[in-house]
Amino acid sequence: MIEKDEFGPEKILEIYDPKVKLNAILVIDNTALGPGKGGIRMTPTVTKEEVFRLARVMTWKCALAELPFGGGKSGIIASNEEIKDRDRKRELLTAFGKALKGIAPEIYIAAPDINTGEEEMRWFVEGNGNLKSATGKPKDLGGLPHELGSTGYGVFHSTLVALEFLGLDLSEVKIAIEGFGNVGSFAAKFLAEKGLKIVAVSDSKGCIYNENGLDIEKLIEIKKETGKVTEYKDGKILPNSAIYSLDVDVLIPAALADVINLENVNEVKAKLIVEGANIPITPEAEKILNKRKVLIVPDFVANAGGVISSYAEYMGFDEKKAFKLIEEKIRKNTKLVLEKTTEKISPREAALEIAKERVRKAMG
Ligand code: NAD
Repeated sequence: MIEKDEFGPEKILEIYDPKVKLNAILVIDNTALGPGKGGIRMTPTVTKEEVFRLARVMTWKCALAELPFGGGKSGIIASNEEIKDRDRKRELLTAFGKALKGIAPEIYIAAPDINTGEEEMRWFVEGNGNLKSATGKPKDLGGLPHELGSTGYGVFHSTLVALEFLGLDLSEVKIAIEGFGNVGSFAAKFLAEKGLKIVAVSDSKGCIYNENGLDIEKLIEIKKETGKVTEYKDGKILPNSAIYSLDVDVLIPAALADVINLENVNEVKAKLIVEGANIPITPEAEKILNKRKVLIVPDFVANAGGVISSYAEYMGFDEKKAFKLIEEKIRKNTKLVLEKTTEKISPREAALEIAKERVRKAMG
């Protein structure tokens, strides 16, 4: 059930192309601030409800980042075989881009999401005929692909601001990062380059831990070569579930949803959690952490680097200008949210209030 409220969703479209058997969904949540921005998720199970929830998050994320975009999201329902088949994927993405003529880029602008990346964005714009209809495109199409690590760069800055806010000594803090994909590996890279100590990193196969710190450059190489962070030799191998309860100051969940929950929340020792992933903490666990005064930088504040990069691409900025914009916006908004946080108002509530106010104002 999709509950309609004062913000949206404005449009829910089901798209079917009988010629290529494309089954897709588009939800445009709110366009008060601009065209609905959000990625194309391609999975066998994507539903209207899921697409709506993600579109709503985009409404808040874009409003909080002060971008001239609203919230949207889309989904292509495709089997695992279709997802692995390049030709079939191309056919589906091209048909989807074509089906959205007149909608994208006017009121929806696509981007990568699960199982879609820069190549898929190429096919989408090829079908659509307008380069502005998607961001996260390959460089030769004027794109700033997600593969540059913009989200991880934002998570890095959000972490720095929160550490300053807590008054923690950067040379002392110990950091653990769950997930070593696009978000986790780039967050790790930028933090390590700044001289911060990352003591643990996990991926789907396990967790590697060394209380004296990991060599992130080496770890990135190993992950690239072997696909596993646990192939890194100078550390202890732990199960990946151990990462949430390690003795660290900062925990950056950057992989799955709901990983900090009622079962493990009491074992969390970090003073700061920066949400690189979307919804890594369940609402019940978040309440407990707030009570314990563990500072949480919410997902739509910390991981907005990707959508800020999308905006930069849309405006035709180069990589350098895009990264500067991510730094400015993420730092400003993390600070704003943390300053608005009180004993009674959690960072998530503070962030949501700021975003809602901006959307309401634009709606008039
Ligand atoms: P990705 O596919 O590049 O990486 C995911 C990583 O998670 C992989 O390293 C995988 O091994 C790891 N993983 C899987 N199961 C795990 C487990 N049980 N324990 C530890 N690690 C595990 O994905 P991504 O793009 O980095 O996205 C990660 C999260 O960040 C998602 O929640 C996504 O929605 C969110 N996010 C991504 C972006 C972006 O620009 N990529 C932007 C905003 C939010």
